[in-house]
Amino acid sequence: MNASSHHNGSFWFDELGIDPQPDPEPLPARTDVAIVGGGYTGLWTAYYLKRAEPGLDVTVFEADVAGFGASGRNGGWCMGAAWGTESLLANPETRSRGLALQRALFDTVDEVGRVTQAENIDCHFARGGTLRIATAPFMVERHRREIDELHALGFTEHDFRWLDADTTRTRLNVPRNHGAIHAAHCAAIQPARLVRGLADTVRRLGVTILEGTPVTAIRPGRVDTARGAVAAGRILRATEAYTASLTGHRRTLLPIYSKMVVTAPLPDALWQEIGLGNRETFGDDRRMVIYGQRTLDGRLAFGGRAGYEFGSRRRRTLPPDDPDFDGIVRTLRGLVPQLAEVPITHRWGGVLGVPRHWRPCVQFDRRSGLGWAGGYVGEGVAAANLAARMLTDLVLERDSALTALPWVDDVPPRWEPEPLRWLGVRAIRAIGARADWIELNRQRPSRFWGGLFQRLTG
Ligand SMILES: Cc1cc2nc3c(=O)[nH]c(=O)nc-3n(C[C@H](O)[C@H](O)[C@H](O)COP(=O)(O)OP(=O)(O)OC[C@H]3O[C@@H](n4cnc5c(N)ncnc54)[C@H](O)[C@@H]3O)c2cc1C
Repeated sequence: MNASSHHNGSFWFDELGIDPQPDPEPLPARTDVAIVGGGYTGLWTAYYLKRAEPGLDVTVFEADVAGFGASGRNGGWCMGAAWGTESLLANPETRSRGLALQRALFDTVDEVGRVTQAENIDCHFARGGTLRIATAPFMVERHRREIDELHALGFTEHDFRWLDADTTRTRLNVPRNHGAIHAAHCAAIQPARLVRGLADTVRRLGVTILEGTPVTAIRPGRVDTARGAVAAGRILRATEAYTASLTGHRRTLLPIYSKMVVTAPLPDALWQEIGLGNRETFGDDRRMVIYGQRTLDGRLAFGGRAGYEFGSRRRRTLPPDDPDFDGIVRTLRGLVPQLAEVPITHRWGGVLGVPRHWRPCVQFDRRSGLGWAGGYVGEGVAAANLAARMLTDLVLERDSALTALPWVDDVPPRWEPEPLRWLGVRAIRAIGARADWIELNRQRPSRFWGGLFQRLTG
């Protein structure tokens, strides 16, 4: 892949059979709503704005091609969950708002399924739920306690269910299995199909997408791009991990890498042995998050979070010989040893955005006309849809149940300047990795390192 390629390196773009090229249309002199960023956040916002007010002139500014960022490269878990919700539920003072948010996140998985069906976006949506495997005996009690707490809050067996080891084996047959939490509100998707399908849909609705048009700065009433300036009544930032590319936003969101691999298609006999017949997504209790899904064409796609580069550097794509991929392949084969001989066909990665307070934010200021949504900490496939609907209501000045949800105006502080940022992330990663190592190898809870990790990441 050369520097002028607009392929984001993922298997998902290959599966779509596209070699996307930006087709920069002429810049308009003005637009009613300018959206910066052509990923899920930007495109869902354009979608709901246009559906609500077809006469509104909406323009999406995309530095590369629609879906070039995390939206076109992720693990494809469309999950009714978001970072930061657990702490809202744990605190009696914020519990009712946390419950409203959690229910809205559950509904969001249905909403993505509903709209993709209505708009004929064939994103391989399969609502198999997700399995969080207990890979050590001590985790059983922890998982069961968690489920009891969730049920005490009013969630049902349908929402979160404990599966014992035998039942779990019928869903996913792996050796390190002591049972699993099955969370129903999750669908596996082909992420690039969702984002490219959304781009086609909003274009059909009359939205202009200016690909190949990097925005350099945003100020009230004006978007500065590498190709000139555009006047805009309202300007919405949807640049997630790439936000540092905008003037004045170097410390707004931290770009953290996540890296993925995918196997060649597995023979049916092997799938019979492994399972995932409902295309359940799966992971375990690791703090250095891992995630897997069975693709519609019978591969196993698997990834893990991996690192930060000094100065919030973001590489367009990652070379397939990046050594982190070997670690991801080892982790995958350690978890699913049946894959030992199955070739890996693709290796790629991307960046996700982390706010300083570790939870998403949606903000719109009526006076300046500026707004943004993001900070999903790597859990943005469904969350971006919810955030986009919240942003739409804020922009259209509609007071709704969505605008009362906790993400609204929950603005994060800025990250520390370098080298503190880099040192801090390294320390958090080392602490998380230490906690994981103790739990996986000594098979006991890591109270000290695990507790420290939890405190540092909210
Ligand atoms: C490898 C990986 C795996 C992941 N797995 C999952 C998962 O399984 N489930 C889940 O929920 N989440 C997952 N995530 C996170 C999820 O993909 C993101 O949270 C989500 O896609 C964010 O969407 P977005 O539209 O906000 O940002 P993005 O998709 O990153 O879109 C931002 C867009 O803005 C454009 N842009 C940037 N700067 C500018 C500029 N200056 N001017 C114009 N345009 C600009 C970029 O080119 C990009 O297209 C994963 C992320 C990665 C990287």
